[in-house]
Amino acid sequence: MHPDIEQLLKLQEVDEHLLELERSKEYLPEIIANVRKEVEDAATLVTETGQRLEDASVKSRQLEGELKQAQEGLAKYQTQMASIKTNREYDALTGEIDSTKERIGFIEDEIILTLNEIDELTTALEESKKRHEVLGQSNTEQLANLEKEMNSVEEKVQAKLDERSNITVRVTKSTLSIYERVRRGRGSPVVVALKKNACGACFKAQPPQRIQELRKGLTVINCDNCGRFLMLLNGDES
Ligand SMILES: [Zn+2]
Repeated sequence: MHPDIEQLLKLQEVDEHLLELERSKEYLPEIIANVRKEVEDAATLVTETGQRLEDASVKSRQLEGELKQAQEGLAKYQTQMASIKTNREYDALTGEIDSTKERIGFIEDEIILTLNEIDELTTALEESKKRHEVLGQSNTEQLANLEKEMNSVEEKVQAKLDERSNITVRVTKSTLSIYERVRRGRGSPVVVALKKNACGACFKAQPPQRIQELRKGLTVINCDNCGRFLMLLNGDES
């Protein structure tokens, strides 16, 4: 293999790392935001469930008050029953008693529904608190790791750039400029293996003479279609 190609393979690996590091600058903040939001959502659920439980308790107390009032009203009408003098009075009072009894039945049903709601909300509140606590712990740990990774990106980029400089000084200038041009135009990979006498990236069949030169390994060979550097894989005599 031509020495330039050996160096370009190393350079290509470094450039892929650099690209990945650049990508991580975009996706790491997104992941961090999502992890934070998950905990915030869990906290919001605790607050909302707590508020609904509070509302249900207020409603329950109101209903108890209304029930007491209705029961007192009923008792008053029943006392009045003893002292009525006319049929008209009797009919009116019986009407009041019936409607009050009906109202008491309605309030009692409402109380049962509200107490059930309070039970359900109490359980839901406990569960949401537990979930918030567990998420809080696991996500804090995750966040610490993600932020550490985020903070080390620039450092890693610098290390890769240093590594890159150490490689590029070992590559022939003209080869390097072709590499940079193809990388900008076509993206990774810039060095590809020959497959069945064709370029491994664009699949263009290469002329026999070019393949022969590639086998000799005396010069670097580029695909005559896409410009990528070609190399032979060990044992690939196809
Ligand atoms: Zn090609």
